[in-house]
Amino acid sequence: MKPDIKYTKLFINNEWVDARSGKTFVTLTPHEGTVITRVAEGDKADIDLAVSAAKAAFHRNSEWRLLDASQRCRLLNKFADLIQRDAKYLAELESYDNGMNINKASEYIDSRIKFMRYCASLADKIQGDTIPADGDVFTYTLKQPTGVCGLILPWNSPISNFVTKVTTALAAGCTVVVKPAEQTPLTALVLAELVKEAGIPAGVVNVVPGMGSAAGSSLTHHPDVAMISFTGSVEVGKLIQKAAGETNLKRVTLELGGKSPLIIMNDADVNTAVRYAANGVFANQGQVCIAASRLFVQSSIYDEFVKKAVEEAKKIKVGNPADPTNHQGPQVSEAMMKKVLGYIETGKKEGAKLLTGGKRIGTEGYYIEPAVFADVTDDMTIAKEEIFGPVQSILKLDTLEEVLGRANNTSYGLSAGIFTNNINIALQFAKHVEAGIVCVNTYPAGAYQAPFGGFKDSGIGRERGMECVNEFLEIKSVSIAQPKKF
Ligand code: NAP
Ligand code: MG
Repeated sequence: MKPDIKYTKLFINNEWVDARSGKTFVTLTPHEGTVITRVAEGDKADIDLAVSAAKAAFHRNSEWRLLDASQRCRLLNKFADLIQRDAKYLAELESYDNGMNINKASEYIDSRIKFMRYCASLADKIQGDTIPADGDVFTYTLKQPTGVCGLILPWNSPISNFVTKVTTALAAGCTVVVKPAEQTPLTALVLAELVKEAGIPAGVVNVVPGMGSAAGSSLTHHPDVAMISFTGSVEVGKLIQKAAGETNLKRVTLELGGKSPLIIMNDADVNTAVRYAANGVFANQGQVCIAASRLFVQSSIYDEFVKKAVEEAKKIKVGNPADPTNHQGPQVSEAMMKKVLGYIETGKKEGAKLLTGGKRIGTEGYYIEPAVFADVTDDMTIAKEEIFGPVQSILKLDTLEEVLGRANNTSYGLSAGIFTNNINIALQFAKHVEAGIVCVNTYPAGAYQAPFGGFKDSGIGRERGMECVNEFLEIKSVSIAQPKKF
């Protein structure tokens, strides 16, 4: 059933407004490929207004800046309470606009509410140091909010990305302009209304849906934006860094894709590893940045593992994301579905063995059968590029010596995992693998209390964990003349 659509305009300075140009764009439901509604399409003129509102809200005498840190904590907890109150509706809307199964959507919302409370509690623990500087000076540091931040969101987990970035920026005391992904703008707008209901002052959070090439690019080039926090593709991540370099050297944090290796050593419990490996790559239709998309299995258990991996993939129930008994929904868009099907064709052409799935299901909606490829080799496209779809690629691993070389043979470095009962192998792997998140005998991992982010092309900076707020803070050293003798 179609959820009630309450908000379709831009949210600037706590008000709902049309785009200056009057333009709108459509958002579809991937279940049927039909139009849900039209949404106001912001561009440069609207970004300018939103940044002005965020700049005014960041003024030293603004209501927001004059709040005690403990009050920021209270407001963020209130925002979390409202998300909790409306969690059912938010999950339904997320599922409808994005194609995510309703259970997954609820699970993500629950986990992000926990993160919000954790992060809110950091707001009044931002503290500097006193420093034993040389000379007759008393020196200390102040940690201060960076300023107006542009938060650019992907479509694969819209609510999670919205609340993670907004809560962290606000805990630090920043103000923000959010640009949701064009495929999934609806839940960000509902969250904007909850920001207002929570009593967060006008201008602190602004939401401008629109195209990346217009709204997104204007935000990244804006001279009054002090920082961009982005999640999405490597290609756009590089454009954002370039825009920062061409304008005001704004700070940039990037949470980009991955081609994460998962290694199954021959001493691992095969049945357990098969289950984790399937969930690691097929969850959320494979549209997960930490998907275990390069699965290396040691040769002595390879045949048994592959057989069981195929059985496991066949158990996945694909269908309407509103039905909680289904596991896998549609890909987010026709373009993404075609991209994934294209990778499956390339895999076959390059000689990988497709053992199950890989075809479009039906002609309505963007459904793909979960695919398992065996006999994948390191040089194949499906072993190198991020597919972002339900495709498991199994590679054979012969010796222990190969593990790190092959795991690290990628431009990405987001997540990595190993299944083994040998503690020394696990420790060496954790130490030397080039990835920001490492899992041993589990997959994936992403506790909100732990830092999350990547090495190499997988990004810059960390979200979640105690350090997350630091990404949104400037450090100031203050020195005050002070004679050493009394
Ligand atoms: P994307 O193009 O990187 O989009 C992410 C966000 O950036 C969207 O809000 C997008 O707006 C915006 N954007 C696009 N061009 C921009 C520009 N020039 N300046 C500023 N912002 C801009 O990602 P995608 O096309 O949705 O997905 C492509 C691939 O990215 C996927 O196949 C996957 O490999 C990867 N991806 C990774 C993650 C992750 O979690 N790490 C998430 C999503 C996608 P529009 O919505 O208008 O394009
Ligand atoms: Mg949509």
